[in-house]
Amino acid sequence: ETIGANLDRTAARFPDRDALVEHATGRRWTYRGLVADVDALALGLLDAGITKGDRVGIWAPNRAEWVLLQYATAKIGAILVNVNPAYRVHELEFVLNQAGVRLLVAAQRFKSSDYVAMVEQVRPKCPRLERVVHLDSPEWTELAAGGGNPARLTDIRLSADDPINIQYTSGTTGFPKGATLSHHNILNNGFFVGELCGYTEQDRVCIPVPFYHCFGMVMGNLACTSHGAAMVIPSEGFDPVTALAAVAAERCTSLYGVPTMFIAELDLPNFEDYDLSSLRTGIMAGSPCPVEVMKQVIERMGMAGVAICYGMTETSPVSTQTRADDSLERRVSTVGRVGPHLEVKIIDPDTGLTVPRGTAGELCTRGYSVMLGYWEQPEMTAEVIDAARWMHTGDLAVMDADGYVSITGRIKDMVIRGGENIYPREIEEFLYTHPDVLDAQVIGVPDARYGEELMAWVRLREGAEPLTAESLREFCTGKLAHYKIPRYVHVVDEFPMTVTGKVRKVEMREAAKKLLG
Ligand code: ATP
Ligand code: MG
Repeated sequence: ETIGANLDRTAARFPDRDALVEHATGRRWTYRGLVADVDALALGLLDAGITKGDRVGIWAPNRAEWVLLQYATAKIGAILVNVNPAYRVHELEFVLNQAGVRLLVAAQRFKSSDYVAMVEQVRPKCPRLERVVHLDSPEWTELAAGGGNPARLTDIRLSADDPINIQYTSGTTGFPKGATLSHHNILNNGFFVGELCGYTEQDRVCIPVPFYHCFGMVMGNLACTSHGAAMVIPSEGFDPVTALAAVAAERCTSLYGVPTMFIAELDLPNFEDYDLSSLRTGIMAGSPCPVEVMKQVIERMGMAGVAICYGMTETSPVSTQTRADDSLERRVSTVGRVGPHLEVKIIDPDTGLTVPRGTAGELCTRGYSVMLGYWEQPEMTAEVIDAARWMHTGDLAVMDADGYVSITGRIKDMVIRGGENIYPREIEEFLYTHPDVLDAQVIGVPDARYGEELMAWVRLREGAEPLTAESLREFCTGKLAHYKIPRYVHVVDEFPMTVTGKVRKVEMREAAKKLLG
């Protein structure tokens, strides 16, 4: 099935249920209304000369038009190119040229960024970019109000295996890569995520994670539309206050977030003022999910059914997931077991052989979810997808005897100190237990004697006493092996982050080198 056909089927079943709600503006669409607007936009795109296979870029924060364009492009077989809302001219130009975007739909501004000015700056350098339409302009109104014979939509020959989306990875470890995904890839993944959360037309899902990323557009939007649930957009960009306010006002049953978002919500001084009693489930994903934060999400937010998902853009994204009937211990401390219709194995990256259960190695995954490839980058694709179609994730993981997977970190983040392999994740988990520590990240820094030494970056709770390296080391003594105790401690207000809310350890390592002179 294609994404457009799936949406039509849901709308036929639940025409009068809410499909899409913008909490900040009060705008809302039923499924009938959503399909009407999606079809009008799809016809408008056809009138604008966009046809199957053309790349249409979207550069905007979370707002309803993002969703309309997502489904309108899918209906006509155009390939949606998700452009990161935090990009600046240099990255914008790269993505538009790399993906060969013909039409760019862009917001006028987001936060303090003037998108109109940035687009004008890059336009002369993007020869294949024929047209730019800014949201909230008369041109957009015209594009969105396409008409004429609706049979023009059903006449287009689409296949579920066609590329439909180019999603750029978060850029946590370097420059973002454009994963090319089909209807089949992402519709199935969204559908299974919806099943995991038990969505029906009664559910209302609060989506504060960016649509430009798979967490928003697949685990959010596609999971909802394939089950008839409502997508609730709290605000354009993430803000803990509006996220919780939207849950309360819209009686949301499910809430999403990367760990840092849940940390910010739980840390709100007036957290108790929000009525979160409608919440029953949700998803935490995207980076290591601290046990303590998961416990608080279950206890203080009442999200009894919350799941942890693990995956990556290249795999549509989810590969493993916890389930409601897993033990509490496993639900908070592992990324669960392999998802439906997928395979996962852990290999020794040097030999390629599967390692025994309980041994760390590189996680590989195979099945319907594996991307078609990196857009026009066959060599890069061949580096990660092998001849048997296994996707090599670059993540280190351990699988236990019952198939539960724990992510120990990225191969690139592993620290080797004096010959010992150290997984920063383990130390971060421990630092979270310090009463004054709000958030902690551990990196390796060059060291003449040991090759690498550990440095902890910590964010302290409000009102906490200043923390010295000595006092933190003392806290670790006797509880962590001596070589795992961070030599350096750096207290910060914020970590360098990607827009998807991931900590950019590459940037921290660069900064640390300067700090240490
Ligand atoms: P880039 O590939 O550009 O460096 P990225 O890998 O962060 O960026 P994404 O595709 O958004 O881009 O993220 C996938 C990665 O996020 C995974 O490879 C993994 O390292 C991490 N990740 C995702 N979910 C989890 C999780 N539940 N626990 C731990 N890590 C996770
Ligand atoms: Mg990656």
